Amino acid sequence: MYSESTPLSKVLGKREATKFRTARDITTVGDLLGYWPRRYQSPESNLAAATVGSYIVAVAEVKSATTRTMKARRGRMLQAVITDGTKDLEITFFSAHGHEGKLLPGTRALFAGKVSAFNNRLQLAHPGYSLLSDFDRGERRDLIPIYRAVGNLHTWTVTECVRMVLDLLDETPEAIPEQVLDRRDLMDRTSALRGIHTPTSMKEVTAARRRMSYEEAFVLQVALAQRRARQSQESTLARVPRPGGLLDAFDARLPFELTTGQRDVGETLTAEMARDVPMHRLLQGEVGSGKTVVALRAMLTAVDAGGQAALLAPTEVLAAQHHRSIGAMLGDLAEGGMLGGSEIGTRVTLLTGSMPTASRRKALLDIASGDAGIVVGTHALIQEHVSFQDLALVVVDEQHRFGVEQRDALRGKATHPPHVLVMTATPIPRTVAMTVFGDMETSTLSELPAGRAPITTHVVPEDRPGWLQRTWVRVAEEVAQGRQAYVVCPRIGDDDEPDADTEIFDADPSSGVGGDDGDDHGDDGGHDEPGEDEAPPPRPLASVHRVHADLVANPALAGLRVEILHGRLAAEEKDAVMRDFAAGDIDVLVSTTVIEVGVDVPNASVMVVMDADRFGVSQLHQLRGRVGRGGLPGLCLLVHPGVGEAPHERLDAVAATTDGFELSRIDLRQRREGDILGSSQHGVRSQLQFLHVLEDEELIEAAREDALEVVSEDADLSAHPRLAALVSARVDAEQAAYLERG
Ligand code: ADP
Ligand code: MG
Repeated sequence: MYSESTPLSKVLGKREATKFRTARDITTVGDLLGYWPRRYQSPESNLAAATVGSYIVAVAEVKSATTRTMKARRGRMLQAVITDGTKDLEITFFSAHGHEGKLLPGTRALFAGKVSAFNNRLQLAHPGYSLLSDFDRGERRDLIPIYRAVGNLHTWTVTECVRMVLDLLDETPEAIPEQVLDRRDLMDRTSALRGIHTPTSMKEVTAARRRMSYEEAFVLQVALAQRRARQSQESTLARVPRPGGLLDAFDARLPFELTTGQRDVGETLTAEMARDVPMHRLLQGEVGSGKTVVALRAMLTAVDAGGQAALLAPTEVLAAQHHRSIGAMLGDLAEGGMLGGSEIGTRVTLLTGSMPTASRRKALLDIASGDAGIVVGTHALIQEHVSFQDLALVVVDEQHRFGVEQRDALRGKATHPPHVLVMTATPIPRTVAMTVFGDMETSTLSELPAGRAPITTHVVPEDRPGWLQRTWVRVAEEVAQGRQAYVVCPRIGDDDEPDADTEIFDADPSSGVGGDDGDDHGDDGGHDEPGEDEAPPPRPLASVHRVHADLVANPALAGLRVEILHGRLAAEEKDAVMRDFAAGDIDVLVSTTVIEVGVDVPNASVMVVMDADRFGVSQLHQLRGRVGRGGLPGLCLLVHPGVGEAPHERLDAVAATTDGFELSRIDLRQRREGDILGSSQHGVRSQLQFLHVLEDEELIEAAREDALEVVSEDADLSAHPRLAALVSARVDAEQAAYLERG
C-alpha cells in the first residue's frame, strides 16, 4: 500500500510516470491526487458543442460502423457514426485495425478529438476514445471527470492512473482536528480525495473541494498563528517618545496638516512601540496617501527613545530618493553632530550595495556607532557585516518584494527584537492581507491628503493613425507649461530580455493570465487536448533606448531634454538622473519600472506607459501614482499595440477607476494564486494549490479562527502530529524558496 509521498514511478508504468513528471512536474502520489479534474461531465452530455476546429470530449454511442477497402491505399478504413441521442457525428479511422472489434454498434465510449469538416459534414478523424465498459468498471457513473491532458496522455489515461493510485492508497492521515471537521462540516481527507476524483454528484465535488481548500487555508493559518504566538512571547525594550525631541520639532515644521488617518495610525504606532512586546504592523495605503511621513514619524520616535531606525527599500533608486527626501524633510534636524546642525538632531545614512567603498565604510561606521539614527538602504542592509548600535525599529517599504525571511534577517541585527512596520505599495484585499501578512496587525490609510488633483487615464491604441503622435504632442504641451513627463518601457535595449523589474504579463490568454473560470483550480489555463503546451513567441517590446532615440528625433519634442533611467546604469548615474529630474533639469524621463515604487517628483504631470498591456494592474496603478502629486492634475496614457490583440480589460479597468482596493482585486483575480504570494516567478511550485484567496474569504476567516484556537491550546501541536508535519513542510518550502531566490 502507498502513501501520498510514494513516488509515482513505484505505482505507475515508467512511461506514464515520466510523462507526469516532465509535463506537469507531478512526481508523487500526492502530487497526482492534487491534479484535479478540469471539469466533470455527465454521460448524457451531447455533441451539440461540436463545431469545426473545436476540441471535444463527449460520451456517445456507436450507431453504425462500416469498414471498407480503400482504392489508393492498402488496408481498410473504418467509418462510424456516433450519437448522443440528439446529435450524430461521423468518426473515421484510416486504418480499421484495432478499432473495428471495439467500436461495434451499441457500444458506449468517451470520445475526444478535434472536430473537422469533410464533405460538408462534421467529423472526428482518429479520435481518442475509451470504452465506457472499461471506464465504468461495472458501476454506473453519473459524472465523468475530465482532466487536462498530460503531454500526450488523454483524460482517460489520467483517470486510470488516478484510480490506480486511489485503489492502492492507504487511509490518508488527517491533519484537521476532529472538532474542527465537525464544526465546519468538513469531510475527512480520504473521502475528499475520492470525492474529487471519483464523485457521484457535483454536490460531492463541491464539498470535497471545500475540504481541501479549507485544509490549505488552515495549515497556512496555523503556521501564521504559531509565528504570532512566538512573537508575542518575545520581549524587547519599550521605546517611549520623549517630549521636546525630534518628533516634536519635526511636527512643528511640517508644511502640511496630517490627515486624520495619518494621525490615528501614528498614535497606534507610538502606543505599540511603547510596549515591551515587539510591534508587528502592516500599514496599507492608497498610492500617495502619505505613508512615508507616518513611517518617518515612527522612526523619529525610535531615535527620540535612544534607538536607531532602519528603512528598507526595494530598489536603489527608491532608497536614494527616501534618503534624499527624509534629509530634506528633516532639514537641520538631520545634521546632528555637524556644525550648524540642530542640537537634538540625528544623522540619516544611506547604505546600498553599489556605494563606493569609502562612503560605504563611513556609513557602516555611523551605523555601528549609533551616530546614524536613521539608516535608509536596500537589501544591502541585511548583509552580515552590517551591525547596528541599537536597532529599535525596522520599516519595510513596498513590502511585496521582500519575504518574511528578509524581515527576519534584519530583525536579527538588533540586540533586542526590533519593532517592525511593513508598508504595502498599494492597498490589498483583507483576505490577502490575512494570508500573506497573517502574522501582523493591519492599519489602513484610506484617504488622500487634501488638495490632490485628479489623475485622468486614457488608453491609446498605437495602430490608430495619429494617436501615438498625439500622445507625444500632449507631453510637449505639458512641458511647455513647465511640467515634466515619465515614459515607461518594459525593457532596456532591443536585444534585452524584459527588464528585471518589470513583471511581464504574457499577452497570450492561454498562459493563464486572463482566464479563471472558477473551477480550474491549479489550472494554467490550458486545454483538454494533449500536447498543447507551448505559448507563441513574444513580440518585440518597446525599449528605453529605442523610445529615447525616437523621441529625440521627434519634431514635436524638439528642444526638450530627454534622458534615460534604468537599473543597469551605475548607481551614481541613476542618482544623478533622478536628482536632475527632481530639480526640473530633465523634461522627459524615459525609464524602466525603476520609477514604479515611491518615486516622488511633484512637478511631473504626465505618465506614458509603452506596451501597457504587459504590466499588471497594480503595477500600472503604482506607476500612475507617480503623477498628480503636486496639486497639478495628472495625466496617464496607456499605450498598447492596438486591435488584433486580446481585449485589454486590464487597461480599461485601470482607466476606469483610481480605487486601489478595486484594482488590486482585479489584479489578483488575473493571477495565479502562487503569484499572489510572490513565489511562482521563482519557479517554486505554487504555494497555494487549491485555495482562492479572493473567493474563499469565508473559509479563510474560519480557518484563521480555528487556527488561533488550536494554537492557543497546543502551541507546538504535540497533540496534532499530522498537522505539525504539514505546517513544517510548508515552512520548509518557504525557506527553500527564499534560499533559491538568493
Ligand atoms: P505613498 O503613501 O504613496 O508612499 P508618499 O508618502 O510618497 O505616498 O506621499 C506622497 C506625497 O504626499 C509626498 O509628497 C508627501 O510629502 C505628501 N504628503 C504626505 N502627507 C501629506 C498631507 N497630510 N498633506 C499634504 N501632503 C502630504
Ligand atoms: Mg511610498
